[in-house]
Amino acid sequence: MEKQDQLLMKKQNKNLVLEIIRNQSPISRMEIAKVIGMSPTSITRIVNELHIQGYVRETELVTSGVGRKAALLDVCDDVLYTIGIELDKLIIKIGIVNYVGEIVAWKSVEREAFEDYNETLDKVNLNLKVLIDINRIPTEKIIGIAVGLPGLIDYKKGVVMVSDQLKWKNVNLADDLKQLTQFDVIVDNELKMKIVAENFKGMTKDSRNAVLVGIGSGIGSAIILNGEIYRGETNNAGEIGHTVIDPTGNVCHCGKVGCLATYISEGAILTDSRKVKEIGSIDDVFDSYRNGESWAINILDRTSTYIALAISNILCLYNPEVIILSGNTIEKLPEIKEAIEQKCELYIWEPIKESVKIVYSQLSDRGVVLGAAIQAQNLLLNIE
Ligand SMILES: [Zn+2]
Repeated sequence: MEKQDQLLMKKQNKNLVLEIIRNQSPISRMEIAKVIGMSPTSITRIVNELHIQGYVRETELVTSGVGRKAALLDVCDDVLYTIGIELDKLIIKIGIVNYVGEIVAWKSVEREAFEDYNETLDKVNLNLKVLIDINRIPTEKIIGIAVGLPGLIDYKKGVVMVSDQLKWKNVNLADDLKQLTQFDVIVDNELKMKIVAENFKGMTKDSRNAVLVGIGSGIGSAIILNGEIYRGETNNAGEIGHTVIDPTGNVCHCGKVGCLATYISEGAILTDSRKVKEIGSIDDVFDSYRNGESWAINILDRTSTYIALAISNILCLYNPEVIILSGNTIEKLPEIKEAIEQKCELYIWEPIKESVKIVYSQLSDRGVVLGAAIQAQNLLLNIE
């Protein structure tokens, strides 16, 4: 083997060992050796290097059963930080996250619906600097930023191809934000970021096959297959909002007829509600539902039917172990869960019904920020 190749392999192994310790801690050297299939001697050497560099520490001693006690390893929480950012139509959320996935600083700022691209970026930069300063986070420990937002994203280039919510088209967000902040930046669709958080410390922790569905102002999903985010050819896998459920149905803003989003998105619910009553916001519709107003019950009953149909279709396509429901509609109207579950009982195909768990995200409004920060660790950390 060439010297260069040897060095590269050593570096890859080191990063891999560190990632395993972060994800599976507390863990012993022996267990790491088993997971990656390397000799315990090699693992001990790598762990020693990581220890000297300040990435890992020994936590407790456990008896392994054969007499000698084994030390368990954990990562050092403050050895590095990443920044997670969520951009949405009316809000910007920023979180500084440590190496064990704890949000150590948090700020949310309002955004105007028609705010200019550069104005939003300046706002992000300014608030980020303030957040770093007041929390005294050493900038040299920050390894980068990851941004999650609704829209079609070229994640390799960091380009937002189109975001209807933010009214952006073909903007090079990664480069522009790097220019402003001086940090490396990665960009991805918000639900893909969110499922990273769910897989790290949420409802699908350690699950190899999982789907997250987002139901709110937009409709979409993110898929993990065999432990990896499934992106498809152009990073659009999971865009279930534009699956057609009625070819004679409502016209969608995408130009097609009968897309799922035109039945269950907040906008769709509002459009139908306003045919009956003067309604200000989606909260008014949910209040009317709780007050037992029949029109609201009818509309949301149809919503829950279509959500259950979407779930049953997803289950047939991907056969996941877990499906997580998340988003504004689920969070603001928890009553809809029961209706969805009852309908799932009817619609889900028998051969997969028993094997799947339907759960709800517990990360509330912080999931995208947390997932983005974890993804920044996954992709930007590259130790020598
Ligand atoms: Zn559509």
